[in-house]
Amino acid sequence: MTETMTPPATGFAELGLSETMLASLDAAGYLEPTPIQAGLIPRALAGIDVLGQARTGTGKTAAFAIPILERLRPHSEVHGTQALVLVPTRELAVQVREEIAKLAHGRKTHIVALYGGKPIRGQIEKLKRITEIVVGTPGRVMDHMARGTLVLSNLQCVVLDEADRMLDIGFRPDIEKILRRCPDSRQTLLLSATVPPPVEKLAQRYMRDPETMNFSPKDVSVDTITQYYFTVDRDRKFDLLVKLLKREQPTQAIVFCRTKQRTDKLHEHLRRKWPGVDCIHGDLQQSARDRVMKAFREGKIACMVATDVVGRGIDVSNISHIINYDIPQFCDDYVHRVGRTGRMGREGVAYTFVSPEEGGELTRIEMRINSLLQRAELEGFEQSDKPQGTPEEIAAAEAEQNGEQPPATPKMGRGGRAPRRIRKAL
Ligand code: ADP
Ligand code: MG
Repeated sequence: MTETMTPPATGFAELGLSETMLASLDAAGYLEPTPIQAGLIPRALAGIDVLGQARTGTGKTAAFAIPILERLRPHSEVHGTQALVLVPTRELAVQVREEIAKLAHGRKTHIVALYGGKPIRGQIEKLKRITEIVVGTPGRVMDHMARGTLVLSNLQCVVLDEADRMLDIGFRPDIEKILRRCPDSRQTLLLSATVPPPVEKLAQRYMRDPETMNFSPKDVSVDTITQYYFTVDRDRKFDLLVKLLKREQPTQAIVFCRTKQRTDKLHEHLRRKWPGVDCIHGDLQQSARDRVMKAFREGKIACMVATDVVGRGIDVSNISHIINYDIPQFCDDYVHRVGRTGRMGREGVAYTFVSPEEGGELTRIEMRINSLLQRAELEGFEQSDKPQGTPEEIAAAEAEQNGEQPPATPKMGRGGRAPRRIRKAL
């Protein structure tokens, strides 16, 4: 793979875009391309396979949507679906479809989102019209392929959006099956916030001499976000949350829990104490998930309790606060949860609740983002010690950093020595 760091062009006009595209960018209020857009768009327009790595909230969707729209060919030349965008979650399918539709302003492009949890009938009806662009989750896309309602034989471009996440949640076999059914001549674009070895392997196997563009080499976390942690005993988390919300008065907040059950339970309790609370997780009916996301986007919900599955990739610009009620299980989930705020250079704040035995997890996150979280203070919740991992946990965290197998159930405890890099900064 070749790696380039393309210097950003100054404006969209210099990227060689059509008048139609410039007009829709104008209508969308996009004045300048973000670095990933400036880097990726010209290469993608040239038909090259690109692996684009950039942290969340940097405009990756438009980076692939713009070249796709610009390269669409008339129906008389190419019949059927020309571009397929694979995304990890249903919410993202809807969101990415909307972003592409916004950028397709002034064109008669038919764009359909295909995702599970919705009756397949309606989607089949939509696909009866010539559909230039399909955005979907791998499972449902395969379903349509098997039924013959989605034909990829004339596909010009396939996009793997949030590739790291799709692999994390076990979509590899589906993705590979889909890619094998796409014509060899197609272009492949891969977008990811991180490029761990499995993503690299996928790129090597299914992309043609891809160019890698890395816009977030080390600094994975967004720098406009202030990141704090609280040390708190498990049984006091709820009181801390209520007190924190009172103090902070967030414009909009997402409160993350580890499991669906915990999400439901917290929602039940919190709605009695705080106005405008709702919740979202994978066990809810799709119609309920759609309704909650819509209300949240419209600002009708101030505080959403959520699991990681739905938190990923969500782009709502008014989110001022991320609260990790439960510390995330995987470091990358931390980066993604926190990335829901501070979008496009706005200010945001993130609080992570850490119970005393979760010190190792906190250390692992700090190593992942290569910076330290600040300790937050709130009256009545003072703590003297920062929870710390034991030497074994630190070693395990380091092993994980090196891409080795993390321990199945890490034993957590206090009082160990932090690794040199972190210790130095303490
Ligand atoms: P990512 O996929 O990198 O997490 P998104 O594609 O979701 O980021 O974009 C984040 C937000 O930035 C969206 O609200 C999008 O509409 C907005 N956006 C994208 N490109 C631009 C731009 N050039 N100028 C202004 N806003 C933009
Ligand atoms: Mg994205």
